[in-house]
Amino acid sequence: MNKHHKIVIIGSGPAGLTAAIYAARANMAPLIIEGFQSGGMPGGQLMTTGLVENFPGFPDGIDGQQLMANMRQQALNAGATSLMEDVERVTLTERPFIVKTASETYSADALIIATGATARRLPLDSEKEYWGKGISACAICDGALPIFRNKPLAVIGGGDSAIEEADHLTQFASKVYLIHRRDELRASDIMQRRAKAHPKIEILWNKTVDEFLGENALTGLKLNDTKDGSVSELRVTGAFEAIGHVPNTKFLSGQLDLDNEGYINVTPGRSTTSVEGVFAAGDVKDPVYRQAISAAGSGCMAALEAQRWLSLNL
Ligand code: NAP
Repeated sequence: MNKHHKIVIIGSGPAGLTAAIYAARANMAPLIIEGFQSGGMPGGQLMTTGLVENFPGFPDGIDGQQLMANMRQQALNAGATSLMEDVERVTLTERPFIVKTASETYSADALIIATGATARRLPLDSEKEYWGKGISACAICDGALPIFRNKPLAVIGGGDSAIEEADHLTQFASKVYLIHRRDELRASDIMQRRAKAHPKIEILWNKTVDEFLGENALTGLKLNDTKDGSVSELRVTGAFEAIGHVPNTKFLSGQLDLDNEGYINVTPGRSTTSVEGVFAAGDVKDPVYRQAISAAGSGCMAALEAQRWLSLNL
């Protein structure tokens, strides 16, 4: 495989793959470094989503993995090449830019960073202890496992993801507790209504998880009431964390301007970053919308801007 590319795209979610489709169709023969383990799986967060009902063009919805497989194939058909490795580091202080993976070093005239964001986890020792033994951050991936069948389960969080996960788990669980730290959900109205109306979902308001309890596997949660400070125990065999995401920007080691939460700062309404020739797309620069369709749109913008920049600077 060529070691030098006009455009290297890091990330293979909707943003990275849309950027690849546009860059390939402009004869830029982009290399997509899809990722492997760090920052979630290649294909991004839609790989762990069931039916995607809000991506335009699919009136009956489309399976998340199928949608990503289609986008990837479309990028390859258009002339992109791909590599399933993690980027370990980049050097943005010299041109061409350097991109180092576990096995190889590549150079690029322009870079599009579309590495997305990873599920946040509660910073508790007991969370680490029971991770994979009843604790997960993905109900869609793990909810159907035998250990969760016909058992009481918990979802932690109050956003759309939490409700989506709780709703999904009702297929398997005897009951799903939605544990939220405030007395008001962050989720959209339609999702709130879905959760509140579901006979198997009970919302526990103003509660935080202080400790995950268990022996060899999770057996319950120690909950703290944020209003009156009382402590209680809830017996569940599964707990699913849905408490937001952290942008995958560590590998940049401070070479691009980031905001306080680590998201890449871009020029408002554009994909240009603090380093000329480096463009950002998708959730890695978007703490607000974080949708597959907005990520795809920003991937298109990044490819067009990269193409324009290369035509003026190469
Ligand atoms: P989110 O909207 O950021 O919600 C995170 C939730 O976790 C919030 O309720 C937050 O509580 C809670 N939380 C954060 N840190 C916590 C902690 N340390 N302990 C306890 N709770 C904590 O994240 P999201 O639900 O993953 O959604 C991300 C984006 O994707 C949103 O824009 C959402 O609309 C979108 N999304 C859409 C769909 C859909 O349309 N079908 C599905 C999933 C996600 P507070 O509310 O108190 O801050």
